Amino acid sequence: MSDCLFCKIIAGEIPSAKVYEDDQVYAFRDIHPMAPTHVLVVPRHHIVSMAAVGEADDAQLAACLRACSAVALQEGLVNGFRVVTNCGPDACQSVQHLHFHVLGGKQLSEKMD
Ligand code: AMP
Repeated sequence: MSDCLFCKIIAGEIPSAKVYEDDQVYAFRDIHPMAPTHVLVVPRHHIVSMAAVGEADDAQLAACLRACSAVALQEGLVNGFRVVTNCGPDACQSVQHLHFHVLGGKQLSEKMD
């Protein structure tokens, strides 16, 4: 998608701090980190959100989850981590390209809202 921020980051048109990549996934540090480790795991192929994964390739979705785990391992999050994806306005999704926040490196809040 030509007007998508994360598509531009994946294409290298906008700089990012790369953490991990493979043929299906690109992962980079969130520009406004909410934890000592805050990485965004993004499928290379444009998918709007969790609401649209019914149209997505199974291998690509599985690759996203495996990449979250690989990022956590690579970042040394041995004491645990959280994976979050915001979907739609009620969840405050601000970038309309599916992404998974990998958060860790501190004791995270019990609150999920
Ligand atoms: P969400 O609000 O769940 O859609 O998450 C979008 C995330 O993208 C936010 O946490 C932003 O801080 C992050 N973000 C926005 N622009 C950039 C950027 N250029 N590089 C890295 N992270 C970004």
